[in-house]
Formats: sequence, C-alpha cells, structure tokens
Amino acid sequence: MNKEIKKYNNFICQIINEDFIQNKDLSFHTRFPPEPNGYLHIGHAKSICLNFELAKIYKGKCNLRFDDTNPLKENIKYINAIQYDIHWLGYKWNKNPFYSSQYFSKLYKYAQELIQKGLAYVDQLTKEQIREYRGDLKNPGINSPYRNRTVQENIELFEKMRNGEFKEGEVCLRAKINMNSSFLIMRDPVLYRIIFSEHHQTKKQWCIYPMYDFAHCLSDSIEGITHSLCTLEFQDNKRLYNWILKNTSVTKYPKQYEFSRLNLEFSLLSKRKIKILIDKNIIKGWNDPRISTLSGLRRKGYTPSSIKEFCRKIGVTKQNNLIEFSMLEHCIRTEMNKTAIRTMAILEPIKIFLYNLNENHEEKLIVPNHPNNPELGTHEIIFTNIIYIERSDFKEKYDKKYKRLKIGEEIRLRHAYVIKAEKIDKDEHDNIISIICYCDTKTLGKKPKNKKNPSVIHWIAIKNSFPAEFRLYNQLFKIKNPEQEENFLSYINPESLIIKKGFIENNLAKKIQKEIHIKNQIIFFQFERIGYFCIDNIDSKKNKLIFNRTVSLRDSSKLKK
Ligand code: ATP
Ligand code: MG
Repeated sequence: MNKEIKKYNNFICQIINEDFIQNKDLSFHTRFPPEPNGYLHIGHAKSICLNFELAKIYKGKCNLRFDDTNPLKENIKYINAIQYDIHWLGYKWNKNPFYSSQYFSKLYKYAQELIQKGLAYVDQLTKEQIREYRGDLKNPGINSPYRNRTVQENIELFEKMRNGEFKEGEVCLRAKINMNSSFLIMRDPVLYRIIFSEHHQTKKQWCIYPMYDFAHCLSDSIEGITHSLCTLEFQDNKRLYNWILKNTSVTKYPKQYEFSRLNLEFSLLSKRKIKILIDKNIIKGWNDPRISTLSGLRRKGYTPSSIKEFCRKIGVTKQNNLIEFSMLEHCIRTEMNKTAIRTMAILEPIKIFLYNLNENHEEKLIVPNHPNNPELGTHEIIFTNIIYIERSDFKEKYDKKYKRLKIGEEIRLRHAYVIKAEKIDKDEHDNIISIICYCDTKTLGKKPKNKKNPSVIHWIAIKNSFPAEFRLYNQLFKIKNPEQEENFLSYINPESLIIKKGFIENNLAKKIQKEIHIKNQIIFFQFERIGYFCIDNIDSKKNKLIFNRTVSLRDSSKLKK
C-alpha cells in the first residue's frame, strides 16, 4: 500500500493518511459525479483517475453517480457514453451506477425538514429579481419580501410546487441563510426550481428539481462518501455543502476537498463550448479527433494507459495552470515507440522507374517490425522496378543543402538498395510522370563503394501498394488558451485537418481488413519517417482504409524553439 501511495502521492493522500491515523477503520469511499449533458474529456479523466486510483490504494470504493438534476440538458446517450469511457479507461465502479434522481424522494423530505426548521422558504421573486436582490461583493443583499412566510405557508406552497400548481419560474424554494454573507453562495441560495420536462430516469414523476448544491452533498451523504473531491471553483460552495448537512437529519458527513482543474493547451474543456463547435459544424461530433474528449482521443489512437500516465504525470495540486499539449503527446509517443510495428506508407506519391531492373523483377525482402525489439517479428515486402516514394523526398531544382533525392545524387531506399536519380520523365503539361533512376544492385545491406552513406527514404513497390487515406490532425485553435477567449471561434485553425491520399503496404492492408471490426481494438503503426497512426475504425471500410495521425515522430513544439 505504501509503495502505491508514494507513486500517486499528492496533498489529498496526505489528508487521507491523517484520516486513517484518526480512524483506522475508516471505510474510504469516493465518487465520480458527471452531469450526463455531454461526453467526457481529458479533464474528467483527471478526476476519474484521482477518485478511482485513491479507492484502489486505500482499499475503498468509488461510485459512479450521474448528477442528473437538470432534465433539460441531459440525455440517455450521454449516460451510455460516459459509462463506456470509464470502462474503457479500465475502471470499475462500485455496484451499479447511482443517480441523484434515485434520491429525489429523500431530497424532497430533507427540503421539507429545512422548511419545518424555518430554514427554507418558497420565494415568488422572478429569476431576475433574485439576482438583483442578491447584491454583489460590494453590496449586501436585500431580503425577499416572501422571506418571512410562516412554516405552514411554506410547507403548503412547496407541496403545490411539487403538484404542478405553479408555472415554471413562478416560484422556487430557497434556503434562508444570510443575505449579508460575504459569500454570495450563502445569500439564500435556490434549492429547488420547477421544470416541466420529462426526466430520462424518473419520467413524469417530478416537476420540481433540486439544484446541484442541494442534491450533491445529500447524495454524497446518502451513499456514505467519505471524501468528496471536486475542482477549485467549488471552494465557496463548500460552505453551503456543510450548511445543508448540518441542518438536515443526515447521519453521514462527507468532507469536500478541492483540487485544480486540468487546463490543456489548445483545448476547450467545457462541454457547453464543445457543443458549440459541433452545432456550428466546425468539428464532426463528440468523437472528432481534434478535440480532447476521451472518445476523440481514442479515435486519434490514444490508449487508456497513455491517458492514465498523463494524469499521473500532471499530478493533483491546488495550483491552476495550463498543461502543455506536448506532455499528452509525449505519453502516447513513448508508448507507441515501444510497441508500434514499423511499416512504410506513402502519403503523397511520386513514381520512381528503375530502368536497369527487369520489368518482371520481384524480390522479397524480410524486414523487422521494430528496430530494437526482435520479439515483434518481421514482415515481407516486395521490391520491383517501379516504386512510389514521397513527393517531398525529391527536389527537381538543384539545391546543395537538400539531402534527399535530386538529379545526379544517390539515396538509399529503406531496407533496400541505393538508387541514383538520372532523369525526369514529364508529360506535355510539365507534370512529372516518373523519376528515372539507376539501382545499384550491389548495395543491399552494404555501403556503396568509396562513398559516404547516403540518406535513407521510405518507399513502396507499386505492386505492393494498397490505397489509403491519411488524416493529419493539427491543433484546432491557433492560440494556446482558447478557453480564455470570449470569441474562441475566431481562432480556429483552418489547417486542423489535412487529408492525403496515398498508399500502404499490401500485406498490412490484408491484416487490417481481417481485424478492422474487432471492437475496442486500437490498431496502430509507425509509418516510418512520417509518424504514429491508427486505423480510423469509424469511417474505414474494408476497401477504404483511413488512418488518423496520432502523433508525429518528434515533438515539433520543441523543434521550433
Ligand atoms: P464542463 O465544464 O466540461 O461542463 P463540468 O464540471 O460541468 O465540466 P461535470 O460532468 O459536472 O462537468 O464533471 C464531473 C466531474 O469532473 C466533476 O467532479 C468535475 O469537478 C470534474 N471535472 C470536470 N472538468 C474537469 C477538469 N477540467 N479537470 C479536472 N476535473 C474536472
Ligand atoms: Mg458541472
């Protein structure tokens, strides 16, 4: 146990360690409480890892609880997607998922209890008036004229609210705390409002819904949560959290602790804003690889282990900061570097004609799948007289500094021979048909005689090529912190997705065609000299293979510096 705490050490562990010293029989219990109003993102992953890992370390439990108190924004499809993502990360919640809505009857009774104690009242001010009367940090609030109704009156009005005898927005239930509190949250916060909308769990049973602050602490208490972990913006809400627990007849008193939320460079981590991107057709849904939702990252090729490693690396503190995107990329790159099979792909082909080889020349070459790990095996490629190379690996105009293929110069084909460019074959519109080259057939695995080692480029024999689409993703925003910008839509990077049509090796295509429909499998590769890619298992079909670039081979943010 100690070893694991060390690995995951943070200020919350220190608090828990103290709690265990005070009470060695503590049955440690956390929860992850998403609102089912969108898909999970990498920020949620931070909270998921924290809650579930702590439960593991301290031999406790972690509940999944849907905080479903606003039927207007929630949807069963989000409930399913959230469960899928948490499972995918490899976590198992305690029992079945819980729902705040399953406590609606209990919460209603707690509200009645507050009314009985003279600590809550039914208010008839409009939403705007409530805001106005609340005051601000400089000005004290003003009591609502409905604040001093009798208990009996409030009990009856609350019942009428519940029975649907008021219109939406006409009345609400408020806690009676202190309109002069220096904490705005304590100025008679709203506890219940009327919403006439069918709820995905309770259907038409209720037309009044508890506010987050009322439902959250009581749900934590009902479930026996001991440590309720949330992000820093709920620091002030803790007063209300504790006030509600203190003034109702609950028997369990969870404690709230706050940590800083994850902010990630170039990313929007607000469901509301992500929804805007989707509604405006800027991205193609919640699983677009350009956004940092878990489904988007998964589609881009990120594995659960890389995301967990990232969450471990960033740690848990009370400092707000912006995490470099390259840190997330580093985690997947390190993992893929160890395990990805190396293969060759051509994204923008140009033809090479090796004039000194026979047109029937067909040579089988066995190449390793990984440069340092023989256990990953080998695969076979074919070498023939017509091959594709990358357009960017040839320069027509002589350039002394250019180290790849140019007329009169030699280059080595990866795993194969040294070739020399001699002539360009063009059509009448000056387009290159092919580059005519000489193949030095004595150079397989050997240095060319009396010469320095030429640079190496990748290639595919036309006969061994299978068409494929490559989707190259760049950052969706041109600025590092779009979350801070009111008009974040004006910073969209027009080059966030670049599509290339090229080729992969035939045998690889065959292998993928067999495996493409295996659910939950991320099929990924290193396309040599290009990057790490995974198969897009949403848009790909057996005869239309599409690859998503997961990450480049090197950290380009460091290269530019
Ligand atoms: P959003 O702003 O994306 O709508 P939210 O906080 O409203 O996020 P919830 O579904 O309420 O989303 O979040 C569930 C849990 O995940 C909460 O405990 C919340 O504190 C945590 N969480 C959400 N975003 C982040 C983040 N960026 N970093 C860390 N934890 C987060
Ligand atoms: Mg929320």
